[in-house]
Amino acid sequence: MSDVVELCRDLIRIDSTNTGDLATSTGERAAAEYVAGVLSGIGLEPAVLETAKGRTNLVTRIQGRDSSRGALLIHGHLDVVPADASEWSVHPFSGELKDGYVWGRGAVDMKDFDAMVLATVRQWHAEGYQPERDIVLCFTADEEAGGDYGAHYLVKEHADLFEGCTEAIGEVGGFSVTVGNDLRLYLIQTAEKGIDWLRLHASGRPGHGSFVNDDNAVTALCEAVARLGRHRFPIVVTPTVRDFLSHVSEVLGVELDPDDPETAIAKLGPIASIVGATIRNTANPTRLAAGYKDNVIPGRATATIDCRTLPGFDVEFMSQLRDVIGDSLEIETVHHQQALETTFDGPLVDAMAAALRAEDAGARPVPYMLSGGTDAKAFATLGMRCFGFSPLKLPADLNFAALFHGIDERVPTEGLEFGVRVLDRLLRNC
Ligand SMILES: [Zn+2]
Repeated sequence: MSDVVELCRDLIRIDSTNTGDLATSTGERAAAEYVAGVLSGIGLEPAVLETAKGRTNLVTRIQGRDSSRGALLIHGHLDVVPADASEWSVHPFSGELKDGYVWGRGAVDMKDFDAMVLATVRQWHAEGYQPERDIVLCFTADEEAGGDYGAHYLVKEHADLFEGCTEAIGEVGGFSVTVGNDLRLYLIQTAEKGIDWLRLHASGRPGHGSFVNDDNAVTALCEAVARLGRHRFPIVVTPTVRDFLSHVSEVLGVELDPDDPETAIAKLGPIASIVGATIRNTANPTRLAAGYKDNVIPGRATATIDCRTLPGFDVEFMSQLRDVIGDSLEIETVHHQQALETTFDGPLVDAMAAALRAEDAGARPVPYMLSGGTDAKAFATLGMRCFGFSPLKLPADLNFAALFHGIDERVPTEGLEFGVRVLDRLLRNC
């Protein structure tokens, strides 16, 4: 069995479920200890940083031949989202090998990449290879719950560990989408939408449930939430998405109408669910709270809205949202993270593309925007250009997007081995 497959299985067998609750999230320490063991086994001395009980992060630096060149950060989170074993065809923490796949929670998000990184640096150690530039490796806790105990803590409290890092590589990108006879798009993430978790509060006149009440907070809130939930914000094609769509329409042979990018996106198959959300701001109602008794009209009602914003839309989005919900509701921001966007050019991007082409003659690297968020949001605050590049060559019929946080999450062993070869080439040439 190859080293990367073994590493990936070992990591999956360590249940590092992040429930979002400090009392029940503990497996990250065991995962970090495992990674620390691999790194110390090859002569590195990782800093182990525990931000709360069991919330363990790891940072180490591989000295390059020329430290005056900017350092490259490679980061991966060690936590995973929960998995309900009764829904799976194998145990989610078994790391089982079946049908050419490694199965288990974290197989694509993102113990696969953690394993690729470890396998690559272990191989270098065996060969005595030293990279050109400094490479900082960072393994984080708490990505799946926003990173307060992970990446965001590290950049705030230990920025010195990332000294000199000009670029960062992490999830979610570098995977293939088969579009034709031996032609694969490799989606390299160069942008991420921003996150705004908002609470909308409606106030009204409380009173007896049997009375006439034309100032009911629940009614007012529900009207606004229903309008917002059905609203489609205008299409905005950012530079990343324009670049992506022009590649896609070219390979699919479809005319791209800039006013109607949805037609081109619909032809992408399952991947449409990833990119379909990157052509507009979105606002999805996710929670409702009001009242305490069946016959009492409450004075206040609250809804939570999960908003995802395009780069450059921080201010404009809030005014668009206000237009939809009206003036009477109070808006409280619970969580805000800025969108990211970098350009698809430069030596690092060239090296990514070259590494993919060297390992897959049918590779066509394209930039894309992730509709979700990653630890890159934290590292970008230190001025790094952030890319999602965890290379995987995938079978044409695999619904990769559905595996993220999904049932029967799994990763092809050949994809893992391909990933190590691409990563190794990239890191030797950037
Ligand atoms: Zn992830």
